Amino acid sequence: MTDLTVKLGLNVFKPLPAPHIKIKAGMERDPRLKAAVRGCPAGLYSVSETGEFVLTIDGCLECGTCRIACGTEVLEWGYPEGGAGVQFRFG
Ligand code: SF4
Repeated sequence: MTDLTVKLGLNVFKPLPAPHIKIKAGMERDPRLKAAVRGCPAGLYSVSETGEFVLTIDGCLECGTCRIACGTEVLEWGYPEGGAGVQFRFG
């Protein structure tokens, strides 16, 4: 495990009833999503074997980097409902 993985592992993620960030339908191949692959500090964006961008929301730090980097034409972006999402723990 990398240092980053260990540090991220300290956080707690409370389950979400629905994803608070989604790649908009039809935008899965939009090149603007490359910025999220490079910029997401939790490494939650990837490219599938078929060339589509994929977001795995578990572990989201709610930092907003992907929203700024890709824009809301590509992403539906919101904060999770109260009581859900990341709980930071520093160690
Ligand atoms: S809000 Fe931050 S941690 Fe969450 S998916 Fe976007 S870039 Fe990654």
